[in-house]
Amino acid sequence: MLKQTKDMLFDFYDIDKSVVKLSENIEEKIQHKFKEINDISEYNQYKVLKAMQKSKLNDTHFNWTTGYGYNDIGREKVEEIYSSVFNTEDAIVRPIIVNGTHALSLCISGIVRPGDEILSATGKPYDTLEEVIGIRNSKGSLKEFGVTYKQVDFLDDGEPDYINIKEKINDKTKLVLIQRSKGYSWRKSLTIDDIEKIIKTVKSVREDIIVMVDNCYGEFLEMREPTDVGADIMAGSLIKNPGGGLALTGGYIVGKKEIVELISYRLTSPGIGKECGLTFGTTRSVLQGLFLAPHTVGQALMGAIFCSKLFEELGFEVLPKPDDVRSDIIQIIKFNNADQIISFCKGIQYAAPVDSFVSPEPWPMPGYDSDVIMAAGAFVQGSSIELSADAPIKPPYNVYFQGGLTYTHSKFGSLKALTEMIKNKTIKMPTSI
Ligand SMILES: *Cc1c(COP(=O)(O)O)cnc(C)c1O
Repeated sequence: MLKQTKDMLFDFYDIDKSVVKLSENIEEKIQHKFKEINDISEYNQYKVLKAMQKSKLNDTHFNWTTGYGYNDIGREKVEEIYSSVFNTEDAIVRPIIVNGTHALSLCISGIVRPGDEILSATGKPYDTLEEVIGIRNSKGSLKEFGVTYKQVDFLDDGEPDYINIKEKINDKTKLVLIQRSKGYSWRKSLTIDDIEKIIKTVKSVREDIIVMVDNCYGEFLEMREPTDVGADIMAGSLIKNPGGGLALTGGYIVGKKEIVELISYRLTSPGIGKECGLTFGTTRSVLQGLFLAPHTVGQALMGAIFCSKLFEELGFEVLPKPDDVRSDIIQIIKFNNADQIISFCKGIQYAAPVDSFVSPEPWPMPGYDSDVIMAAGAFVQGSSIELSADAPIKPPYNVYFQGGLTYTHSKFGSLKALTEMIKNKTIKMPTSI
C-alpha cells in the first residue's frame, strides 16, 4: 500500500496501524480468488455488451413517453436486452415493480390458480414471500385464494433433498420455487449446477411443472444463470446486482414467453399486459447499471472475500469461507454477542459515503421477532449492491454483510467495522499480527 494511502487511513479515518497491517496481510492471501472473479466478470461483461450491440441500442432509447405508454421503444429495448442477457424468450423490467418481493409476487400470482399447489424445493422462502404465499397469515395472500403450499427443507449437510422433492410433487403441484441465495439463513447458496439438478429432478416427475427461481443477489456470480439451465421463470431486484448501483428502483422478470404473458396480466390488467406502462426516464440508468453490473458484482464479491478472510483470521465463524464457491454476494459473520454486532454495524455506517455521521441503533422492525440493526449509507435508498450490513439482535448473532460498489470501499467497510469493534472494546486484536 502507498505510504500516502496508509497515512490517510491512520489520520483521517482513524484506523489503527495494526489493522492496516493486518489488511495488507489478508489481501495477499486472497489474490488467487480475485483472478477467478475477474475471469467471470470479464465473461459477463462481454455477454451484456453483446446483448446491447445485438439489439442496436441507441440514444433514442433513453427517451420516454407519456400517458398509456404504448410503443415505448426504450422500455421495449430494456426488456429485449434483459431477455437476451438471461437467455430467455421474454422479459418484464419496470420501475413500477417496487422491489424484489413485488417481482416474485407478480410471478407467483400470475402463474397459480385456485386449487393449485406451490412447492418450495429449497426450504422456507425469503421472509417477505411468507406473506405473499400465506405461510404466515396475511391479508391478500395466495392462501386466501385457495392456493396451497408445501416445502422441502435442505438435508442436514446443506444439500437439496432431491428424494423428497420428487415425493412431495403431486397432481396439484403447479409451481416449484427455488431460492438461489441463502438470503438471511445459514445455508450454502445454490450453484447453477445445484439448480440444474433440482430442475431436472422436478421435470423428471412432470415436464409441465413450472420452475421459478428467486435470483436475488445471484446475478453475474457465475457464467451461467438459472435460465440457462432450464428455469422457466426468474425474478430479481434492480437495486441489487443487475442494477449495477445505478438503477434507482425496479424489478425484473425473465422467462418463457407464455409465462411472462400470464404474469403481465397481473402487472397491469388482463387484456393489457406489458403493452402499457411508463418508464419515467429510467431506461438510461437501468441499462448503464446493467452494463456496469458484471464489474460491480465482482467488486462486491472481492470485498466479501476480504471480509470473510479478515474475520476468520480473527477467530470468528464465517459463511461462506474465503475459499468457498460463492453463489451470492452475502457474507455472514457469526459473532459472540450483541455488542460485537452493534459495533460492527456502526463501523459499516461510518464507512459510508452518505449518512456517515449517523449512528445506527437496534430497533423493533415490523415483521421481525427481535430488534434489528441496519447499517447503510447508500446513494440509492435500501440498495444492497452498495455497502450495507444488517443483523437481528439475537443468537446466533449473525451479521449479514454485502455490497460495495468498489472493492476498496467494501474493504474499507470491513476495516472501519473492525476499528469500531476495537474502540468499543468488543474485540481484542491478537498480538501476533
Ligand atoms: C432481497 C431478496 C428478496 C426481495 O427483497 P426486496 O427487499 O423486496 O427487494 C427476495 N429473495 C431474496 C433471496 C433476497 O435476497
